[in-house]
Amino acid sequence: YLTLNHLEKSFGANHVVKDFNLDIDKGEFVSFLGPSGCGKTTVLRMVAGFEMPSSGSIVIEGQDVTGLRANARNIGMMFQAYALFPNLTVAENVAFGLRVKGVARAERDARVAEMLALIGLPDLGARYPFQLSGGQQQRVALARALAPRPRVLLLDEPLSALDAKVRVSLRNEIRAIQQDLGITTIFVTHDQEEALSISDRIVVMNGGVADQVGTPFEVYNKPSSAFVANFVGTLN
Ligand code: ATP
Repeated sequence: YLTLNHLEKSFGANHVVKDFNLDIDKGEFVSFLGPSGCGKTTVLRMVAGFEMPSSGSIVIEGQDVTGLRANARNIGMMFQAYALFPNLTVAENVAFGLRVKGVARAERDARVAEMLALIGLPDLGARYPFQLSGGQQQRVALARALAPRPRVLLLDEPLSALDAKVRVSLRNEIRAIQQDLGITTIFVTHDQEEALSISDRIVVMNGGVADQVGTPFEVYNKPSSAFVANFVGTLN
């Protein structure tokens, strides 16, 4: 459904992504797990279209999107935190992508209501982001990403700014919504426990390379390298 072929990315002399290959099934939840600076975000940004690969290709549903602009790819993205438009209400934030796509008012309103219900905040549409908790803001960011019905959802450390308790409840909620919608998802994290608990598969990255790709059980119990054993396992 989503294929990354021999992706390479360099920033000047800094070779940050090296021969990255991956096939993701429709509806699959895949985590990119690795230490800071290993290239997780750079791969995600290439899938989103914010960054052009130095070489290689990105194929979604059989369509080569490598040369397409970000907003022509129909991909939803959610970031770390504080990414809502502060001067727009919750409902206006969720409607934003629909407005850009030219979705008519009535359908926009219906979709916003549907999304706010999906994230469990049906009554907060008129509030502004500063009137919400961190967890609520991230729920709204998820609703905004999902409202245009993207074919892929990209999550870049969406939980890292939240406190531990909210982090666990929100990650379970994200997983439940993802499974409910059957949306193909890539989740970037440096948190082993997080990746192990919610993924169908994990890509363990090290120095721009996909060191191991496997189910949580496989990467935890059958690490393919000392790095994976250290980073994913109990040694950490
Ligand atoms: P983190 O969790 O800290 O974000 P990461 O695994 O997501 O880490 P990337 O953000 O992909 O890592 O960064 C990988 C490397 O690429 C880093 O050395 C970073 O400094 C470099 N890099 C990323 N974006 C750029 C850019 N626009 N220009 C130059 N170098 C960049």
